[in-house]
Amino acid sequence: FLMAYDPAKRLAKLQVQMERATVNARMIYEILDTQSHQREAPEAKPLVVSEAKIEFRDVSFAYGKNPPILRGVNFTAEGGRTTALVGPSGAGKSTIITLVPRFYDPLEGQILIDGQDIAKVTKASLRRHLAYVSQQPYLFEGTIRDNIRYGRPDATDAEVEVAARHAYAHDFILAQPQGYDTPVGENGTTLSGGQRQRLSIARALVRNAPILLLDEATSALDTESEAAVQKALDEAMGGRTVIVIAHRLSTIVKADKIIVMDNGQVAEEGVHEELARRPDGLYARLNSLQATAIRDDITEKENG
Ligand code: ADP
Ligand code: MG
Repeated sequence: FLMAYDPAKRLAKLQVQMERATVNARMIYEILDTQSHQREAPEAKPLVVSEAKIEFRDVSFAYGKNPPILRGVNFTAEGGRTTALVGPSGAGKSTIITLVPRFYDPLEGQILIDGQDIAKVTKASLRRHLAYVSQQPYLFEGTIRDNIRYGRPDATDAEVEVAARHAYAHDFILAQPQGYDTPVGENGTTLSGGQRQRLSIARALVRNAPILLLDEATSALDTESEAAVQKALDEAMGGRTVIVIAHRLSTIVKADKIIVMDNGQVAEEGVHEELARRPDGLYARLNSLQATAIRDDITEKENG
């Protein structure tokens, strides 16, 4: 019991593993609270979160010297609610999510959390309040337990297990040869896409952060896996401020607000029923396309 854990050691070990693994910034962000070498304003204050409301105000953004990807983006993700970003591929949805943890800063405009400009708070305090589930979950060399605990290095075994249960991962974990101590990653046991996603959701849940950024997976999951991932996501979203890049019609329909992105701008905003009925609306068009795609998908699954 005494040798339960040593956060400093865990972080050191993690650092080594991260240097070995070539992971991109989004993946690193998924697991790390802080990166020590980042520049920040000397007068930066800790972010204080109450409702966890996120506001984009006239946000424009370009990657380097390329033409702007986001132009004058305005929207509010209400505290404790789910805001879904939808729109054609390349519209700027993933870029929007990337700006919240400050991988990049806007060219113009501000992003506020509970009224505080995120450019003026410490990055450590900002990221402590965020959890992110990427489209392609990344597993590190290590045990299943390690992989969940990367979400919060000082989490106890009991907290890891609670997160796994909420992510509908506990049962398949126990079915592995060494349960939570089963090695995964390149040289470890092979997990299905849906199982990897649920571990990644458990990793986000163990952070217990008030804000969840979610790049919903479109990857082909079998029907059973998909249902389990959907349940896991529903658990993760409850009571949090969620910005989800939504592909599943079920997520979009349930969202408290839908932001329809087109070519770097907010084209429409509303809830499913009103947007779907708008004549000539982009959402209405996307929705009828997606409904067709989903019907085809169901037919394919039914026909085996
Ligand atoms: P979406 O998630 O809506 O498909 P993205 O935000 O990923 O859209 O991409 C918006 C545009 O930005 C695309 O044209 C894409 O090619 C470009 N883009 C995305 N990431 C980068 C990057 N790191 N450097 C340069 N251009 C990028
Ligand atoms: Mg994207």
